[in-house]
Amino acid sequence: MKAHRAILIKLPRDKCDANYIKRLMALTNLVYRGFEVRVSDLPKTIQHQLYGFKNYMESLVFGTTPKKWFAETWVPLKTLRIYQDGSMKGDKGAPVALDFRSDVIRLRQVCRNEPGFVVEVPMPRWVIERVGEGGDVKFAMIGLRDDEPYLALIAERMVEPYQPSGYILAIDVNSWRYGIAWGLIRNGRIVSFKQDGLNPQRIVSLYNQAVRREKKVGRLKRLGLEDALNVKRAGRMARRLRSHAYRLIRAEAVFLARKLTKKALRYGAFVVIDDVDWESLRELLIRRYGGRVGKLLLSGLKGFVKLLVTQLEWYGAPYEFRRLYSRKCPRCEHELTQEEGRTMVCTNCGFKAPRDKVPMYWAIKEVHPGDREKAQ
Ligand SMILES: [Zn+2]
Repeated sequence: MKAHRAILIKLPRDKCDANYIKRLMALTNLVYRGFEVRVSDLPKTIQHQLYGFKNYMESLVFGTTPKKWFAETWVPLKTLRIYQDGSMKGDKGAPVALDFRSDVIRLRQVCRNEPGFVVEVPMPRWVIERVGEGGDVKFAMIGLRDDEPYLALIAERMVEPYQPSGYILAIDVNSWRYGIAWGLIRNGRIVSFKQDGLNPQRIVSLYNQAVRREKKVGRLKRLGLEDALNVKRAGRMARRLRSHAYRLIRAEAVFLARKLTKKALRYGAFVVIDDVDWESLRELLIRRYGGRVGKLLLSGLKGFVKLLVTQLEWYGAPYEFRRLYSRKCPRCEHELTQEEGRTMVCTNCGFKAPRDKVPMYWAIKEVHPGDREKAQ
């Protein structure tokens, strides 16, 4: 199985011509839609590349099918890898060269339409680590995000999922009110259980502070005071609070995905991820926290699941998605009743468990990694 991981590297703005990259992106979009376009003033080497990628793009991490005209399509690029012993892999004329002898990445004529124009960026540690794990960076992409130029590197690795040891790692992606819950299961018993994650109250409070300040700025602007010093300061503060909230969510998703992948590997576990009904979770979060914060929290959870799956695949941890309920009896599927202290009780069969652990019992009921081995 081929596993992929990707990283985004910000390119130096002053050395990149954003309009040129924009044109390349538009051209990529056309090529991907099946048009034969040759533009006389763009380098042939790069145009030639695009056609070579045509049937490839969907398999690349960033290569999603452009649905709209002029939708932002990242420009796929081949890479040349030059290793420490001087050996090389890839196309010698590739526009992106990863040089492991001097630990730099050279971009030839992809940042500006000038013959021989080269931009050098330092080799990220991420690349060294992925290569150290047996990966290879065969492709790169260049594109703009929020009008800033970025290089995306895509590492690829052939990996076979390991045989699970008998442990199950069940991951419940709940509303994030009590964090993400995970349990380690063996022989039908919960060996350990933890609720981990971000305190959404902190996000909500940061976000609401930002909104309050933005409102204040808006009020003062309407009074014609936009130049006043404190208006500018309030505007800056609002932006800072908002981006702080975004960063917190992202950092938490990265941290948890990493932690749980490591845990799966350590125990040789079979991983079960709650197959979230995103639509109803979205409604729940919006009802509880309001539209903007709700959506922000939702995107954090989605990001977490995506990162987790990417890493599990990369390290060959077997996983599957299962709906892990918290209000339905894992024994008889009867609706559970909540009692004091968040205890869930089944009036039909007498099942009783703390609410947050009910999804773990669903994992015990539904998942039998051993069966899979026997079936093979
Ligand atoms: Zn029951």
